[in-house]
Amino acid sequence: MTRRLLLAGAGFSLLSPRSCGGAPPRDADGQAAGTSAGGAEPETPGPQDAATAPAAPPAAVAAAPLGGRPQAVPMRAPLAALSTTDRLLALTIDDGPDPTYTPAVLKILDEQRISATFFLIGRNAAEHPALVREIAAHGHHIANHTWSHPDLRRLSETEARDELRRTCDLLYETTGRAPTWFRAPAGDFTEASLRVGAELGMRPMAWSVDPRDWSRPGSSAIVDRVLKAVGSGSIVLNHDGGGDRTQTVTALRSYLPVLTGQGYQFTTPR
Ligand SMILES: [Zn+2]
Repeated sequence: MTRRLLLAGAGFSLLSPRSCGGAPPRDADGQAAGTSAGGAEPETPGPQDAATAPAAPPAAVAAAPLGGRPQAVPMRAPLAALSTTDRLLALTIDDGPDPTYTPAVLKILDEQRISATFFLIGRNAAEHPALVREIAAHGHHIANHTWSHPDLRRLSETEARDELRRTCDLLYETTGRAPTWFRAPAGDFTEASLRVGAELGMRPMAWSVDPRDWSRPGSSAIVDRVLKAVGSGSIVLNHDGGGDRTQTVTALRSYLPVLTGQGYQFTTPR
């Protein structure tokens, strides 16, 4: 595939300073370890359909960097866990930024000296750009969780591209860095969204530990579920947006010191 065809297929222009082409492939802390996220977000409980997404050969070949701008990456299955036997975890926080809960989460992460990946909803990020920059300034990784949190299974490829690219562009404009990861709402990745994400330079990330904090089961239930399920390489899903996340904040304050006390360290896959 020629570069021109690739770029044309990715739907972005060489000249547009606003468009995201994705990021140069960097080694992540783990390889795709499976396609089962084993969890769900509020809208559509049940396992994601990533299992139906093929572990396809590279759909897009990375071209030379455009003045440092990121590039398309190979299409892959969603990363559900880190490939490690070390006591290494990835904490992921979805659905923000939120003016009430995101600062509370940032404070806890600061106190615990933990870095996380924040999967931001584009329209929330557009409303709270200072908060987006604050997340980045605290050393956390910012990732793409679509513009309006739709069910990607109901969208055309064009619509899915719009959801992801718009968010990608906004995050780039807000932080100066294009996101290198994206996550489908409720983990419902589609083949089209995996293809579009790769074109935009993003790898898909699922999760392996879902305490279903969004359903507000009580902070102690969230704590118990995380502590029981977590293991080497787990990717943990929590939420700082989309509703009252007081329980999540309380749970984080409780379970993060327990995990660090057990020798776990936290990473942000790059
Ligand atoms: Zn979400």
